[in-house]
Amino acid sequence: MISQSNWRGLPYHSIGQHYKAIFGEKVYKIPVSVAVTCPNREGFRGMQTCNFCDTWGSSAYPDLQGLELISQIEESRERVLRRINAGKFLVYFQAYTTTFAKVAKLREQIAASLKVDKIVGIVVGTRPDCISDALIDLLREFSEKCYVSVEFGVQSFDENQLIWMRRGHTAKKSMQALFRVSESCPKVNLGIHLMFGLPHETDADAIKAAKICNSLPIDNVKLHNLHVLKNTSLAADFTAGKFVPISLSDYVDRAILFLQHLNPRIAIHRLAALSSRREELIAPKWTSKKMEIYQIFLNTMAERGSYQGQSYKPLVDEVHHAQI
Ligand code: SF4
Repeated sequence: MISQSNWRGLPYHSIGQHYKAIFGEKVYKIPVSVAVTCPNREGFRGMQTCNFCDTWGSSAYPDLQGLELISQIEESRERVLRRINAGKFLVYFQAYTTTFAKVAKLREQIAASLKVDKIVGIVVGTRPDCISDALIDLLREFSEKCYVSVEFGVQSFDENQLIWMRRGHTAKKSMQALFRVSESCPKVNLGIHLMFGLPHETDADAIKAAKICNSLPIDNVKLHNLHVLKNTSLAADFTAGKFVPISLSDYVDRAILFLQHLNPRIAIHRLAALSSRREELIAPKWTSKKMEIYQIFLNTMAERGSYQGQSYKPLVDEVHHAQI
């Protein structure tokens, strides 16, 4: 049962608590890069690279990108084990858009990953428009055998913001993809990535995003603040004064507002983005201070007495669900 008493003193339902409830201990995600491109980068249907995406395609460990899959897993696992004595790991097929690769290849990669010592499941990162029948079958098949999670890069539920980001998919497509996977693969754990700090965004947008999340069949959310990386279209906008990154205090306020309206059942991966390549970060500089930001969140929520689900109203969200 999800309640604050299970959150071990945190003011929100962390993904660590979610893993603990399932696996009985701390579980670490190992990001790997097996996909080399995505529909945007390939220019499918006239699409363009997302305005915030740099050449690494969201990879957490670009230095491992050239290695074979198993080597990436073992290397990342050893990096974690050098710091702590971890017993269980999930392989996170993260960079670019994994499911753009042929499903047969992905099947081989997942099967090989699951043979590695201490690997107890997989997480697949993808876009809402990269879901085929074959992929659904694959997810269902593996979810019968082990923990499977899919994380969709939804980014925003505002259609105009998605156009500005050059995502090439709509919010409606995101919602359809989530319901499709949920209905076809009931054992798959579903997550989404959401961004705050978009142009002209308001507090009302954060509350609306939480209410839409509450109406969707999702289990977790990963929050990002939109940051500017080198060699992106957003960097050109930033230099030209067309994009101003959100301040730390505004971002914290907005993310807390989102949490307050979010169903406490939904786990939170992280509260802000962190550039894994600090030399690539242009702005805002505060985004490079991971632990400081986390502590500011905790302090601010403690001072205000705020917590996830504080303003969540189940009946209102059920009505909203019927309207989607
Ligand atoms: S953010 Fe994802 S979908 Fe967009 S260009 Fe980068 S890898 Fe492709």
